[in-house]
Amino acid sequence: MKFDLKCSIQLSREAEEIADELQEFVKNIDVDADLKLKIEGNELLIHILSHEKRSHQIVLQLYKQLAIFFGKRKIGLRGIHVDEYEIEFEVEKKPLKEISIPFADLKINDKIVVMKIANKEEDFLREGYVDRMIRLVKEKIDKQYYEGKKEYWQLLWQSEEKEHVWDKDPSEEMQKRGWIKLMSKGKWFYFPPAAAIMRAMERIALEEIVAPLGFKEIIQPMHVSFATWIKTGHLEGMPGEIYYICEPESREIEEWEKFVDLLKITKQVDEKELLKNLKPPKTGVCYAQCPNIYAALAGKTIAEESLPLLIFDHSTPSDRYEAGGKHGIERVDEFHRIEIVYIGTKEQLLDIREKLIERYKYVFNNILDLEWRMARVTPFYLQQAGIAGGEENEIKGTIDFEAYLPYRGDRSKEWLEIQNISIVGDKYIKAFNIKAQKSQLWSGCSGIGLERWMVAFLAQKGMEPENWPDGFKKYLNKLPEIPKFL
Ligand code: ATP
Ligand code: ZN
Ligand code: MG
Repeated sequence: MKFDLKCSIQLSREAEEIADELQEFVKNIDVDADLKLKIEGNELLIHILSHEKRSHQIVLQLYKQLAIFFGKRKIGLRGIHVDEYEIEFEVEKKPLKEISIPFADLKINDKIVVMKIANKEEDFLREGYVDRMIRLVKEKIDKQYYEGKKEYWQLLWQSEEKEHVWDKDPSEEMQKRGWIKLMSKGKWFYFPPAAAIMRAMERIALEEIVAPLGFKEIIQPMHVSFATWIKTGHLEGMPGEIYYICEPESREIEEWEKFVDLLKITKQVDEKELLKNLKPPKTGVCYAQCPNIYAALAGKTIAEESLPLLIFDHSTPSDRYEAGGKHGIERVDEFHRIEIVYIGTKEQLLDIREKLIERYKYVFNNILDLEWRMARVTPFYLQQAGIAGGEENEIKGTIDFEAYLPYRGDRSKEWLEIQNISIVGDKYIKAFNIKAQKSQLWSGCSGIGLERWMVAFLAQKGMEPENWPDGFKKYLNKLPEIPKFL
């Protein structure tokens, strides 16, 4: 490793007369680096060459000592300017293709990276950019190795094969019957029969799983702030899947006059005029319900007697800018989920996961009577980030629940994820600074996708209530009539 930093500090006046004193002072500074300081007119030039400690750290410490030294001589320091900074470090694997990052030029030779930064102000050093840039280079190289690799998938449990009443696509059939209507990309309107089925799914989840296990309901805003998503990692993980929200620049109708005039004349939205009246987004529509839950708990210390903390939300839909979205309701841009969140000790979370699995099993076997399976999955990037490994008894990680879709044919591959259970360790607990009096906290969540439950059920059991299993009929045995349209 090599940290070769050249920077300069503007002095409040010319100070060449103290050059000798400065050299004396430098001799007495104890750093494990090659340190050269020189006064030129009203500028102090600093050159730090270090092989272990990072020069950008050294210069910040040095600055404090220099401020005292110059202060005694009635000379003020006007901040550090980075003239040139060359950092050389080794990476574990050599990049497969070229990489670049902002604020620096990169030259990579086999596993040696040379990163050159020039002409930056003090904040750049103080805000920790340099360390994050080094990390980003490593992360980008790692990503080149796991891109395209399949996610880890290991079957945990599978129901028996079942006979299904039909092999039609329920979304198509519901459209034909007028039960659902596509409103805009991936957003559907559910007429009474479809709404009744989805609400029945919701009641089953609430009454058979959420309530018996003691989860308590919360209600949250549908907007999620960037600050929250920076902490959870969503904003760097899936910026291209978020629906962003803009506030208007102003509520004053005069400000909107031109926009309204154009609209009245053309009966169309003038997009340029509209954008002039909008602020840049600072929030987005809920993507998953857990981030706002963690944000609401940020900075709190949870009493031991309140552990495990068990909460759930079904107040807001989740929106995602998905690929596609025109076909059916199994992959939509706006979906309805119950999300439950659990925070507690590792042992408490293990216990909750066991109970959840037991309840889910009961619902899928005894109420919905599905052909389904359960698998341990770990997206490769999570394995890479040390969030979860691939081992069978691993506590952290995700279990997916999947159902077979007969209309898609091939039983060996046509399974749809209908929900999951995750334990994420202390990732979010740390990010939001949530504490307990004594216990070490972990957290996790489980997202129950109501559209997915509905598709799986209808795909296997058909759309006629008389064919539905008795368990489900207890929740819904007759469909509301649909208005007759001529
Ligand atoms: P997928 O791999 O299918 O995209 P995901 O891993 O993105 O799912 P999560 O973010 O883990 O899904 O959300 C958990 C649950 O939310 C899923 O199991 C599913 O029930 C539901 N879900 C996610 N995305 C959609 C979508 N686009 N349409 C309908 N339901 C969805
Ligand atoms: Zn979640
Ligand atoms: Mg997805």
